[in-house]
Amino acid sequence: MVLADLGSKLSVALRKMANHTVIDQEVLDAMLADICKALLQADVNVAQVKQLRTNVRTAVNFDNLASGINKRKLIESAIMTELCSMLDPGVKPYEPKKKRPNVIMFVGLQGAGKTTTCTKYAHLYKRKGWKVGLVCADTFRAGAFDQLKQNATKAKIPFYGSYTETDPSVIAGDGVAKFKDEGYEIIIVDTSGRHRQEGALFEEMEQIAAATEPDDVVFVMDSSIGQAAHDQARAFKEKVKVGSCIITKLDGHAKGGGALSAVAATQAPIIHIGTGEHIDDFEDFEVKAFVSRLLG
Ligand code: GDP
Repeated sequence: MVLADLGSKLSVALRKMANHTVIDQEVLDAMLADICKALLQADVNVAQVKQLRTNVRTAVNFDNLASGINKRKLIESAIMTELCSMLDPGVKPYEPKKKRPNVIMFVGLQGAGKTTTCTKYAHLYKRKGWKVGLVCADTFRAGAFDQLKQNATKAKIPFYGSYTETDPSVIAGDGVAKFKDEGYEIIIVDTSGRHRQEGALFEEMEQIAAATEPDDVVFVMDSSIGQAAHDQARAFKEKVKVGSCIITKLDGHAKGGGALSAVAATQAPIIHIGTGEHIDDFEDFEVKAFVSRLLG
């Protein structure tokens, strides 16, 4: 069975209001129950879900509403506010600093769009005038270095990798050291994608982190992963210091409900979203626009 995306469940819950001519506490509570259930099923933290319910009930106090107020709009905007605050873990993402090396390590499941996203991220900073280099520390997947090389060459971004060295932490360490020596400002380390939470590959990821001492670790997540998002994000967070998230493939059908789970699990803010396969299909993350899409 394909489980509905969290976003779809939330919009269905909101749309149910249209079936009622009178919006009262009972209607609101039924809708909140649906919304909370959907959030809990998506593994959003229980305390956060309870907080949402309490805050919406406080914002929509039926005993105290001015006459003529549009209750539907009020409820929608209260829920919107709460979802926006859920997507804000309350910490600022790492901001690269000019004229010094910033090492950014990318992690994620295989197929999440990590290698593509590394190039998009590199391209974004290059366009802004930063000196950017890409390091391929994926020795696990055959062809990974070629893929990065091809992407990097197309985008005219210097890259580092090896066909002979088999230890990814050695490649990562060497690549980062080389780019640091040459005065690079953004040094991106692409790591192997994990299928699931394979122990050996996670160990390798920790070794790469130890060898490169990243300033930020970016967790790349496919927006269509839906329900599994929380566990995946948590597994990565437990091994490396995930500081930011990037959600990919938001050009597809997925509404991106998994993003809420990823933020809840990593307590790391979303910095960008991927909206296509092309290098320019990359946007800054805008909380409000994202939540509107989620509920739309
Ligand atoms: P990795 O295994 O995590 O490194 O994933 P890749 O970067 O190789 O990407 C896997 C597939 O997803 C490729 O076919 C990419 O072109 C595609 N992809 C990556 N990001 C996006 C995105 O934002 N939108 C779409 N539609 N496809 C994407």
